[in-house]
Amino acid sequence: MVKAIVVNPPVYDFTLYDFWLKPYGALRVYRFLKQGKHIEVDFFDFLDRYSPYVGSYGFKYTDDFGRGKFIGTEVEKPEVLSFVKRKYRRFGIPVEHYVEKIKNLKPEFVLIYTGMTYWYPGIKEVIEISKRVLGDQVKIITGGVLSTLLPDFVKQLGADIVIQGDAFEILAGIFDLEFDASSYIFPCWSLYRFLPYIVIRLTEGCPFRCPYCASYILKPAFRVLDFEKSVYEIERWSTIGVKNVAFYDDALLVRKKEALIPFLEQVIRKKIKVNFHTPNALHARFIDEEIAVLMKKAGFKTIYLGFETINEKKQKELGGKVYTGEFDRAVNALLKAGFERKNITAYVFLGLPGMDEKEVEEAIYHVNSLGIKVMLSEFSPIPRTPLGDKVIKEFRINDLLLTNCSVFPLLSMGYDKVQYLKSLKNRLNAEIQ
Ligand code: SF4
Repeated sequence: MVKAIVVNPPVYDFTLYDFWLKPYGALRVYRFLKQGKHIEVDFFDFLDRYSPYVGSYGFKYTDDFGRGKFIGTEVEKPEVLSFVKRKYRRFGIPVEHYVEKIKNLKPEFVLIYTGMTYWYPGIKEVIEISKRVLGDQVKIITGGVLSTLLPDFVKQLGADIVIQGDAFEILAGIFDLEFDASSYIFPCWSLYRFLPYIVIRLTEGCPFRCPYCASYILKPAFRVLDFEKSVYEIERWSTIGVKNVAFYDDALLVRKKEALIPFLEQVIRKKIKVNFHTPNALHARFIDEEIAVLMKKAGFKTIYLGFETINEKKQKELGGKVYTGEFDRAVNALLKAGFERKNITAYVFLGLPGMDEKEVEEAIYHVNSLGIKVMLSEFSPIPRTPLGDKVIKEFRINDLLLTNCSVFPLLSMGYDKVQYLKSLKNRLNAEIQ
């Protein structure tokens, strides 16, 4: 019997909020390994807000849509972040519970999900503690965003095998498993003792090429998945109390006739009662009255739209996904369909080099004039993207910690401007009911 554990590491950051944040890829990997009769596989999610290891914390701090706070402890700020006037924290289950788990299981393989590039300290912690407890013979395998973008960096953290992109074929080889590329493996949600929401995808990848985004590196091809299986998953989980479903699609509305529309029609026909949420920005260009009405009828509750900037030239440079007229039309269609103003939010960039205070201010006022909320999308330069690499060079960034979205806008705009724009946004949002 081969023993393995799949781990979602803790996060070191200034802030962390469960904005429908689940280790989607890691939960798929667990289900894949579980198929092997010769594999004993376990799972440890440091960010499980309802874990018995954190008592009733998650139950106390959760809103109606399943979002909420993570348990965190203040830790010493790394020297490179000493200029940031905020507390630095470790979010997640205390490490001793993980140590106890691996001491009992004695896995030969530790598979670690690697997310945001600037969250590497949590990955380093899991690698180091796993090796200390299990000895150097344990094989550390990593996959996910950071591993795909910067495999050599992850090797330096101590990983033995770093998987770039889709992990299943490589894992099939390592663990002697069958793999059928045409069938999609769904995440294993039954690993959680309590689930306020699940996450789904109807599509993979994105056909756009925005210069700051790594979507095309992570998933080079855009494809539509079998929506019937997602309907089945939601139906199953809703009957046992899951009330919220978040989409992780990068381009949910692209090819909507093949994916979202038939999916919504089935949800309506089957009378499935859940609240849908779109934490990843929707492409406002593709929202018309017909889809807005269908989304409302099927149970969409919160809508997040990409707006980014009001400057037309910059809208074009950032990928030409949406122009102001199209954005305004989408908002009107959503309002006409009956969405509540307080549940429609537009993302506006903060800290994007070349986008000054006045431009951000104008975008905030424009969104507010439409009667919906603003969320500031604090810019983080992502390595290997054209804009990310340019900015990293220009600002002489020598530690990924400085690409943190809570940090980089301070470098590009300065503390006072960032604070001013955040309070402007808060003041205007408070008017939206
Ligand atoms: S549309 Fe969104 S997901 Fe697609 S490339 Fe642009 S930012 Fe990335």
